[in-house]
Amino acid sequence: MVYDEALDLPPARRRIFCNRTLNLRSIRAVGFDMDYTLIHYRVEEWENHAYRHLRGRLASLGWPVDDLEFDPGSVRLGLILDLEHGNIVKANRFGYVKRACHGTRPLSYDEQRRLYGRDLVDLGESRWVFLNTLFSLSEACMYGQVVDRLDEGLVKGPMGYADLYRQIRACLDEAHIEGQLKAEIIADPDRFVVLDEELPLALRDLREAGKKVLLITNSEWPYTRDMMSYAFDRFLPGDMTWRDLFDMVIVSARKPSFFEHKNPCFEVIDDEGRLLPVLRPEAGGTYLGSHAAAVEASLGLSGEEILYVGDHIFSDVRVSGSLLRWRTALVLRELEAEIDAIESFEAEQRELSAMMEEKERLEHQFSRLRLGKQRLEKGYGPQPEASVDSIEKRMRALREQLVALDNRISPLAARASRLANDDWGLLLRTGNDKSHLARQIERYADVYTSRVSNLLALTPFVYLRSPRGSLPHDAGPTP
Ligand code: IMP
Ligand code: MG
Repeated sequence: MVYDEALDLPPARRRIFCNRTLNLRSIRAVGFDMDYTLIHYRVEEWENHAYRHLRGRLASLGWPVDDLEFDPGSVRLGLILDLEHGNIVKANRFGYVKRACHGTRPLSYDEQRRLYGRDLVDLGESRWVFLNTLFSLSEACMYGQVVDRLDEGLVKGPMGYADLYRQIRACLDEAHIEGQLKAEIIADPDRFVVLDEELPLALRDLREAGKKVLLITNSEWPYTRDMMSYAFDRFLPGDMTWRDLFDMVIVSARKPSFFEHKNPCFEVIDDEGRLLPVLRPEAGGTYLGSHAAAVEASLGLSGEEILYVGDHIFSDVRVSGSLLRWRTALVLRELEAEIDAIESFEAEQRELSAMMEEKERLEHQFSRLRLGKQRLEKGYGPQPEASVDSIEKRMRALREQLVALDNRISPLAARASRLANDDWGLLLRTGNDKSHLARQIERYADVYTSRVSNLLALTPFVYLRSPRGSLPHDAGPTP
């Protein structure tokens, strides 16, 4: 690649966004997750593939699923399954449910309010299943569809909505672990992988800047070897291979357990994956298992000197950050489509915001008139000069203005709520508020970005500062 002296900041969709200030200069080791972090998949293809394996397993249990198809638009990262009611919901940052489907059927506003008026989503309860990664989409789609079938009485056996989920989960788990699904991916990677030419150079920049570069993945050795080789080697000069980019490689890491427990460590001593038990991982080696504290000890680093970059909100980001105080970066590829959708709606959003301000102004006038009328009729407080009749006339005129304004607001507000996805809208917003996903990211990821190669333009020396942040009173008192 030719040297590009692009001195300007990259466009928004390729930036790194910051929740907690992170100076990359003070980071001494950067660990990367592999799947959906260093290697991005065509989500529709991968999840459709996983869905078919899942469907086959469920069919062999006698479930009526043969005619079901994966519907990629029906579920999104950050949605939440409600196992008590067989629903899929989107919640805001406080856990209030803002949209919901029962199975695949959208709930009306009234149904939703009746069910969730008092029930807040609390991810600490087993009733709620947060869709933490793109690998969750196949099971979530299947869950919605099979809830429909259960309601129709087509699924046999005494089975509740939670049992349904557990069986789907177990079957998908087996499909991921058993070799067939992955063997098919390895056999035809062009179909499944989105290559990123800039990525190898971004990793080299980090390494040459003196940082230890680690790969820590839950994938098994043969899959890791083949996929990394496929995605990286073609972009590296001469004999260099993906393995030369990393100071340490850990496969079958079993995150989140990797961050919590002292799991045993084996060295992968050859390409075929033969193993040798060892005490702890060392720089230069490839290992299976092991754990985060051993990595820290081996590198002689403390948590705040290590940045871990991953796509799984719970395993990669929440656990590593909360338990070990590793610094964390979340990779969220959908951010690019999210930012594109927001930018394409910019002019309409300005119009919508202006109309909302106008609405607030008219409502204020209406309330003032109403209060004047009340004081006049009940004979207390400062008395307006106008008569009740003329106040009522002005109120009627205002009401008409408000109705006309609402008629202009509604179609735009409806479009705003369908940005990026017709059913669920933007990933990181619910209405004007932050979504539950946005809240998880804000709490647990120090920084977030759409892809690892965004580091290339921003360099290994970037100082990422969190923005001042906005509070409701920042805009000043409303007139
Ligand atoms: P990582 O993101 O690089 O840590 O690797 C993710 C690995 O976990 C991939 O090999 C996936 O196939 C695997 N995986 C994803 N979902 C499941 C699951 O539900 N059960 C078991 N393995 C899974
Ligand atoms: Mg991953």
